Amino acid sequence: MDLTISRVLLDEMRRAAAASPDREICGLLLGRNRRIEGLLPCDNVAAMPEDSFEIDPVALIAAHRAARTGGPAVIGHYHSHPRGTATPSARDAEAAEPGSCWIIIAGNDVRGWFAAAAGRFDPMTLVEPDNR
Ligand SMILES: [Zn+2]
Repeated sequence: MDLTISRVLLDEMRRAAAASPDREICGLLLGRNRRIEGLLPCDNVAAMPEDSFEIDPVALIAAHRAARTGGPAVIGHYHSHPRGTATPSARDAEAAEPGSCWIIIAGNDVRGWFAAAAGRFDPMTLVEPDNR
């Protein structure tokens, strides 16, 4: 399964993750279907942000409201693993909402995951948009 994202947006996520070595960064993936058109960086409001994330609920509600009035859809979210690998943690599996796209950043390693069912992630192939 493909997830389309531009190199510019990938680099933006890598830079944000690199600038935050002690806490996970997070944000929303905006777009349509499985094509990411923009990122919305959000505050990580988790109690233990060094190894978990929780998207600021105020930003989440605002993004969903904007989507209902014609803005890009929220198709998933991204977060970093400052000390781990770019694979979903056990905590991520508990939080996974089926049908959403995930991107996890660990250093230069950036990987896409599709939350297929409760607790189950399928790897997604990150592809660049063709500019035709
Ligand atoms: Zn995680």
